[in-house]
Amino acid sequence: MKKNIAEIIGISNEIYDKGLVSGKSGNISARFKGENGDIIAITPTLKSLSNLHEEDIVLVDMNGNVLTRGVPSSEVNMHIEIYRKRPDVNGIVHTHSPYATGFAHSTKKIRRLEGFGAIKSEYMAEIEYEKPGSDELAKNASEGLGNEDVLILKKHGVVCVADSLKEAELLAIFVEESAKTQFITCMLNSAED
Ligand SMILES: [Zn+2]
Repeated sequence: MKKNIAEIIGISNEIYDKGLVSGKSGNISARFKGENGDIIAITPTLKSLSNLHEEDIVLVDMNGNVLTRGVPSSEVNMHIEIYRKRPDVNGIVHTHSPYATGFAHSTKKIRRLEGFGAIKSEYMAEIEYEKPGSDELAKNASEGLGNEDVLILKKHGVVCVADSLKEAELLAIFVEESAKTQFITCMLNSAED
């Protein structure tokens, strides 16, 4: 358990340092086996991912019951719904990383580039805007993911899932780099020679 929590803190720091989350935005979680079923360790609400301590990480069960002190991220229901629908997923990273979120606020889709696993579809999956923290967002995000590993939340941000939190982090980095590359390509194509 201590190891899992240390990993969450380490990855929170890394994604903050890389600029994938800023201020108090973004949340990440990992699932592991408890004595009485799965337990989700998630980052807290209203705290920056840049400076978390062991006691800040909140443990919840699959029904959303809080097992420790603290208040989990406002997106805890979205994390739980995704874990419920995807037994293969053990790590979730949700960011508002600037390039990918720029696309999320535009009418353009983000292309899936070479560099991270098989390309199943040309564009990253997306869902329409729902209020952050709402039950509708939890439901639509978990359904919208289907069997995808990336979901763009229109006018909001990005959700990446994987069999481990580390893999979900690497995917979130890849998504942001892909969006940046596509943005640069758009700019160059629209520039005069
Ligand atoms: Zn968000």
